[in-house]
This record gives sequence, structure tokens and C-alpha cells, in this order.
Amino acid sequence: MQPYILSIDQGTTSTRAMVFDQHANIVSVAQKEFTQHYPQSGWVEHDAEEIWTTTVEVCKQALNKAENNAGKVVAIGIANQRETTVVWDRATGQPIHNAIVWQDRRTADICESLRTQGHEQTVTQKTGLLLDSYFSGTKIAWILDNIEGARQRAENHELAFGTTDTFLIWRLTGGGMHVTDATNASRTLLFDIHKNQWDDELLQLLNVPPTMLPEVNDCAAHFGATTPDLFGRSIPICGVAGDQQAAVVGQACFEPGMIKSTYGTGCFMMMNTGTQAKVSKNKLLTTVAYRINGETTYALEGSIFNAGTAIQWLRDGLNIMEDAAASEPIARELNSNNGVYFVPAFTGLGAPHWDPHARGAIFGLTRDTGRAEFIRAALESVCYQTADLIGAMQEDGHTEPTALRVDGGMVANNWMMQFLADIINAPVERPTTTETTALGAACLAGLQAGVYDSLDDIKQNWQRNRRFQPVMEPQQREKLLSQWRDAVHRVRTA
Ligand code: ADP
Repeated sequence: MQPYILSIDQGTTSTRAMVFDQHANIVSVAQKEFTQHYPQSGWVEHDAEEIWTTTVEVCKQALNKAENNAGKVVAIGIANQRETTVVWDRATGQPIHNAIVWQDRRTADICESLRTQGHEQTVTQKTGLLLDSYFSGTKIAWILDNIEGARQRAENHELAFGTTDTFLIWRLTGGGMHVTDATNASRTLLFDIHKNQWDDELLQLLNVPPTMLPEVNDCAAHFGATTPDLFGRSIPICGVAGDQQAAVVGQACFEPGMIKSTYGTGCFMMMNTGTQAKVSKNKLLTTVAYRINGETTYALEGSIFNAGTAIQWLRDGLNIMEDAAASEPIARELNSNNGVYFVPAFTGLGAPHWDPHARGAIFGLTRDTGRAEFIRAALESVCYQTADLIGAMQEDGHTEPTALRVDGGMVANNWMMQFLADIINAPVERPTTTETTALGAACLAGLQAGVYDSLDDIKQNWQRNRRFQPVMEPQQREKLLSQWRDAVHRVRTA
């Protein structure tokens, strides 16, 4: 019987379970969405209990569909939405508040005040991050300060903190394990990524009691085993990584300089920088790409908040197209963008600008501008933003990418992929399996379970579906980029 691996992709809007065979083929999939709670403007919450029930449900479905005489699941891997914060009661396993989601801005003022007190440099130097409400640290403190008695209970070791991987492992193992991995720890603002440990100074600064923290493992490690009542037998949990880091593994970006970029709702780019943590002067984050056999591989990360949302807005907000896929033939209809530029800064600008107050705009409208220009400009904007991130990486001293490995819903768009290659002036490589997040978690679990001997084995499984080669004239590229930068300049508030 073949060894199969069950991968749990605990995302922001849904939880998916996928079973992979050892050659990275998908054997089965199950997915379930869960409720998004928006209690106030700028607040986003999930019910961790609902995350748990959807997870168990999709795992059971995927296991039932997959297991037969050909194969059996030998290990579980988990990839998860990063930074989303859960605090629960150690005695009952019950969360004491809804999970505060990474998008939630309620602690922006706390971050701002820490910044004006001059703490950002220490935080960045230790964690590689910026003082932003995006990360977990200030969310934990918010829960402790807003739920009656919580801070005292945390001091008494009665409460536990975790990102959703940690909460799920706690539940899957029947409360036996309170663990996370180095990539998830690196997104909390509490973890020194150079020393590989929770940092006392940061814990004091953000007012988080150390008693609440999980143990931090390698990404491929023993995270405990599921209680037999859940899936009819006990299955070991062997791999964990935050979703973007899992995609780095799923894209087999194991050499320094290799870049993966995920184009979904937002766009997340990560460049492997090897075993040295590289510091950016251009507001890119330094983060843990993966930690295997005790050795940390680092990455530089740039996040674009709005990518697919630009297409969603044209479809659902303006109703100018039927579905996202229609954007491809419509963009192709035009010979040029006709001077129209769309800066989709709906929720501000991410890296390398980090301007939360900027808002979107469309420039260059004339009397004959039509929906095709809007649609093409939306697709182009995602490519220009990618070029800006690569530009920031180059300004930080990194060489031009030899190729960009892409995944996420938008990469189905061939026109956009060609334009992307043209505008970054590097080949764009699309893999056969674009479910790279789930695949990455499965690879990590497979490594620990002995399905794979090394990262080289995993590399063999990566297969290219298509390579897009740049063909645009340099002059044309420069002209487009300069007009785009002019448009961005006009929406900046700082
Ligand atoms: P997420 O995981 O962030 O929910 P997905 O990776 O599923 O997102 O990607 C969905 C996004 O991709 C949506 O915003 C959708 O508008 C966009 N999208 C899907 N197909 C296409 C396409 N063919 N061309 C352009 N955008 C697309």
C-alpha cells in the first residue's frame, strides 16, 4: 500500500483537507467555509470552535474518499492562516474569546503608541517584522485586557495561546500537546528569529505572560498524534508551517534567491535568502521560511494587500464582468492599456510602501475608456506591484530573480502571467499542482514520516505546467513602470 499524507489547509475563509500520494498527486479534497465575524469596523473574528468542527468534518471526508486498497494515510501536515490569535482555557479546551484574525486592525493604536515610544527598532531587529497590528502579539494582550479576569488566569497558567495550527493540534491530540512550529512563532512579534526562542524583553513590552506560549518545534517534527476516536485510529501529526511558508516548500524554493509568489485575494511573495537572515532597508519583512533538523532557512517577504480583490470588485462591485476568468479574453482584446492605471489600494498599500491610509484610484480616463481598460488595468496592477516588490529586493542587494514560481487563483490567467513575465523581465513558472500550500504541509509531514528522505526528494516532485518568457522591449517596460509609479505616488499619503 502506498503511503498517503493528509494535509490540513486551515485558511482565512475556509478549511480544506487534501490527501496526497507520495508523488504529490491529489487523491482527495474536501473543503468547508466558515463564518467571518465583523463586530466593528476594522475588526475581523473567527469562532475557533467552528474552525475546529469544520476541520474534523473535512478531514473525515477526505480520508473516507482517499483510503482504499491502494493507499493509507501515514501522517498529517498542517498549513494555517498566519497570525490569527486564539486564547483558550487549558482545563476545558474552550476558547475564551473569538479568534482575532490577522486582518483585524483593533490594536493599531497600541502599535502606533509603541512606535512613538521608539520601540520599533528593537522589535524589527529581533523579529524581522514591523510594529503592526497584523501580527499576533498585540492581539493576545487585547484579549487578556478585555476579558474579565483573563490576565490573572493567564498568569496562573490557566490559559494557553496559539495560532490556529496550535489550537487544532491541542484539540486533535486531546489536549496533549501545546506546540507550534518556527514559521508560525516568527509571526507573533514575540519570537527572536535569530536566537530561535521566545524573547523576554518582547514579552514584557507587549505585556504577554510567558506561561501562555506553546513549545516551538521544527517544521518537520513530532507534533503529537490524533486521539483514536476522531478518525478511527491514531495518526501522527508530522509537519506544520504558516500558509505562505508552506507554499515556499510546496514550490520547492529551496535555493537562496528562489522566489514564490501567491496570487489570491492578496499577493504574498517570499524569497529564500538561505541560512542568513537578511535585513531589508525597504520595509520587506525578514521571516523564517522553514526550520528543518534545527537549521533555520530565512526569507524576505513582501505582501500586497489587494490582488484578486481588484478583479472581485470589478465583478461584484461594478458588475462589469460575469466571472473572474472572463478578465483574460477581455484584457487580450486591447493592444495596450490606453494609458489607464488602476491602483487598487482599497485597504491601503502594503510592501514596500506600508501606507495604511492610502486609498484606491484609477488614472488616465478619457471619453473612450471602457470596461476592457478597467479590467486590463486591474490585472496589470498586480504585475506592477510584483515588480515593485522585486525592485525593493534588488535595492536591498539581491540579484535579479532567475524565475518566479507562481500559484493561487489568479495564475490561471495566461494573459496576466505573460504580462507578469514581461514586466518583471524574468521567466514566470506555473507548477502543475497549484495547491502549493497544502502540498507544502504534506511535504513537511512526509519528510518527518520518512516518506521523503530529503528536500531533494521533494524537489523531484515539483513539475512545471508552463513557463512564460519575457518578450517585452526594455523601453516599453520602463515606460509602463514609470507611469505606474507616478499613479502610486498620487495615492500615497506619506
Ligand atoms: P484565496 O485563497 O485568497 O481565497 P484564491 O487563490 O482562491 O484566493 O484566488 C481567488 C482570487 O483569484 C479571486 O480574487 C479571483 O477574483 C481571482 N481569480 C480567479 N480566477 C481568475 C482569473 N482567471 N483571472 C484573474 N483573476 C482570477
